Amino acid sequence: MKVVILGAGPTGLGAGYRLRELGHDDWHIYEASDHVGGLAASVTSPNGFVYDTGGHVMFSRYPYFHELVDRLLGDDYTRIARESWIWMQQRWVPYPFQNNLRALERESVLECLLGLAASRGAAADARNFGEWMLATFGEGITRLFMRPYNFKVWAHPAELMSKDWIADRVSVVSLESVLRNVILGEDDASWGPNNSFKFPLYGGTGGLYERFHPYVDDHLSLDKRAVAVDATARVVRFADGAETSYDVLLSTMPLTQLARILTGAPDDVREAAQDLCWNSGLFVGIGVRREEPTDKCWVYFPEEDAPFYRVTYLSRYSPHMAPAGHFCLVTETSRSAYKPVDPATIIDDTIDGLIATRILAEEDRDLIVDRTLIDVPMAYPVPTLGRDRALSAIQPWLMDRGIFSRGRFGAWLYEIGNMDHSIMQGVEFADHVLHGAEETVWLPAGDLVLAGVHA
Ligand SMILES: Cc1cc2nc3c(=O)[nH]c(=O)nc-3n(C[C@H](O)[C@H](O)[C@H](O)COP(=O)(O)OP(=O)(O)OC[C@H]3O[C@@H](n4cnc5c(N)ncnc54)[C@H](O)[C@@H]3O)c2cc1C
Repeated sequence: MKVVILGAGPTGLGAGYRLRELGHDDWHIYEASDHVGGLAASVTSPNGFVYDTGGHVMFSRYPYFHELVDRLLGDDYTRIARESWIWMQQRWVPYPFQNNLRALERESVLECLLGLAASRGAAADARNFGEWMLATFGEGITRLFMRPYNFKVWAHPAELMSKDWIADRVSVVSLESVLRNVILGEDDASWGPNNSFKFPLYGGTGGLYERFHPYVDDHLSLDKRAVAVDATARVVRFADGAETSYDVLLSTMPLTQLARILTGAPDDVREAAQDLCWNSGLFVGIGVRREEPTDKCWVYFPEEDAPFYRVTYLSRYSPHMAPAGHFCLVTETSRSAYKPVDPATIIDDTIDGLIATRILAEEDRDLIVDRTLIDVPMAYPVPTLGRDRALSAIQPWLMDRGIFSRGRFGAWLYEIGNMDHSIMQGVEFADHVLHGAEETVWLPAGDLVLAGVHA
């Protein structure tokens, strides 16, 4: 069986690694860019600062993923205890906001408590993410945090988004725990699956993916962009005119782009792809000539005093992210048609925002020695209300023709769009096509929309 893989991000690398591990030899990865890692790659600036493509935290519930990371990194990692905060109302609030309300102004605490008390029990009836947050958290938490923060991240109105992706991605609270926090002063900053995590000692998050090279290099071609997929003849054509046939194709490029380059796809498949929505990211790396000023890992920004929604202190994760005597951070700003942001001014606006939010002091302006813009055309696959309908028109057609579209933008399922999900989708693709094993990561999410495809 000839297996062709498009893309050397975590999904494609996971698939290649697993195919090798299973002893299969007829496979090849074609990657459009000149490096591996995809959205999880890191950039090293000419001044020696290493920036991830936005803050990346490695966590997982999959044992295979942990064992693979251990094998790839060996002893070359750091272990970080999560210190994440929210900057709002000119103060630091522990993350998650909704579990730590007591840090707010007193009027806001009251507004949140009254809203939460009035909101109990109606979330199941919510028709979209906007209604869900209001039903789950009430007016106060929604107005002060959930709505502004989520618009900054997704760059899409919450009313256009579904509520089905939420699961363990959003911390929900009980009135009792909020009252304990406010009245007894018990903070709860421990929520979530990522409260302690490993980070590669060298090369940032992308350093993990560089370590796949020995396992995939003899089956990897870089600078090889697929420009046409003939699903009937099972042939991929590349920008340089070369072609390759396949028996099974794993595509990890964005599903919207795959639909555009498919020959022979019916109109309803092409049109369905146009209903898929995404946001773009302008990520700004800043290197500063002074020592790390904080124990914090990352900070969320729901308010308008900064363009970004998150800042990650990268040099806090490993001493090799910045030259000695310096620190670095990366900010994330989203954009879309609903939320235009000018790339020409984003670096200056980001620095102003860092000062307005006290991440940097005014005097730091003169100490900034590195500014790196990472412009990401597709950052988050947005779980819009029309997403599942679109996927159910596209995926069965592809799978009938031996095309597996998997990974963050391949599957287009944000709820399984992290690095571990992506690697595991690649691993399980290999197990599935070689041995018929079920895809347990993709299937439950895919199942929502594709009942019966795997039957
Ligand atoms: C801002 C941000 C923050 C994130 N934070 C986290 C986090 O904290 N924790 C976490 O686990 N995950 C995080 N992620 C998700 C993580 O980056 C993704 O899970 C992962 O990169 C997806 O891997 P992939 O291989 O599916 O896709 P990608 O990384 O998108 O890789 C796809 C590859 O396909 C290539 N390609 C595209 N078109 C073609 C073509 N025509 N021909 C050939 N090759 C092509 C691309 O160049 C790319 O290398 C974050 C992502 C973003 C954007």
